[in-house]
Amino acid sequence: MTSTLIDNIGELVTCDGPPDDPLGVRSAAAVVIQDTEIAWIGPRAVAPEADERIDALGAAVLPGFVDSHAHLVFAGDRAAEFAARMAGETYSAGGIGTTVRATREADDQELRSTVARLVAELIGAGSTTFEIKSGYGLTVDDEQRSVRIAGEFTPEVTFLGAHVTPTEFAHDRAAYVDLVTGAMLDACAPHSRWVDVFCDRGAFDADESRQVLSAGRRAGLGLRVHANQLQAGPGVSLAVELSAASADHCTHLSAGDVDALAASAGLAEPTVATLLPGAEFSTRSTYPDARALLDAGALVALATDCNPGSSYTTSMPFCIALAVREMHMTVAEAVLAATVGGATALRRQDVGRLRIGGRADMVMLDAPSHIHLAYRPGVNLVAGVWRAGRRVIGRVR
Ligand SMILES: [Zn+2]
Repeated sequence: MTSTLIDNIGELVTCDGPPDDPLGVRSAAAVVIQDTEIAWIGPRAVAPEADERIDALGAAVLPGFVDSHAHLVFAGDRAAEFAARMAGETYSAGGIGTTVRATREADDQELRSTVARLVAELIGAGSTTFEIKSGYGLTVDDEQRSVRIAGEFTPEVTFLGAHVTPTEFAHDRAAYVDLVTGAMLDACAPHSRWVDVFCDRGAFDADESRQVLSAGRRAGLGLRVHANQLQAGPGVSLAVELSAASADHCTHLSAGDVDALAASAGLAEPTVATLLPGAEFSTRSTYPDARALLDAGALVALATDCNPGSSYTTSMPFCIALAVREMHMTVAEAVLAATVGGATALRRQDVGRLRIGGRADMVMLDAPSHIHLAYRPGVNLVAGVWRAGRRVIGRVR
């Protein structure tokens, strides 16, 4: 048993405050880590002794970010597609096919090293919990190896065989849905916690999505939905109806969608609206109406949507800055969405907030307050990261 006192924290953001102050900021604070958990939080003046002492020199400390939406198992490069889009072409779901071809040709070690590189980026940017989806294999074997490799890096593995219909099934979509809900699900479910479906134009319709989600639930998986990214549609209402943990994107919402998400916030199994502003940034699209969701009382999370086509960022601080600048979220709302919001979207109680007995997942900034995350866009302010009590990033301050 070893203990570490992190002393002289100028601003401790717990994300565990009362309803009228959920950010729960404390000044002149200290934290004691015991093994993997937080053992003590309080004013530094009365902090207990510990085996080791780290001086935060007045810096801000927050919960590690929880990135609940990332596509990291892939091969290939789509930089030219990005450049073409910035030169005026529009984004459609079909671009995924480019990555599918490259992923199928890659060997396991190539895929594994790409995931390892992106995971290192995520952690370096302060994310201590992250979800990883499959979805670029789209054969039984390629999807299974995708979730297997994802599972080497996180317990939050999502089977996304229903990302798009691969070209070889273009003329028999029903046969592909049968495969996804049959042999592919059987092969992937043992390695996955979640099932996801891209319910949108150019991907899967409401009936197909319902089949995928229902089969996933029967296999014991939790539900997530790519919903309403490209146009208004049935994704969000389906997610709420089936008590999915998260409806992701939420870019084109009807008033009914907003009401449904807000109503679900009070349920035992709520559906979180997970906003992915990196996708709108990288496809030069209109941002989701975060204010409508927050003002209606919906639960909101922020995630990177890291993927090679439409949002190739691993930086939660960048997404926080976008949420504040482009989606009119307050800095406090954006930080909460990137921490406890993401944890709720993954139905996790042990991460996303700093509390005694919780996992010691923390980020120390090279800045005096959390506001700098949005105030200093594009600057890596992450000076220290602890995962389950272990310091994995430690920049000299
Ligand atoms: Zn996605």
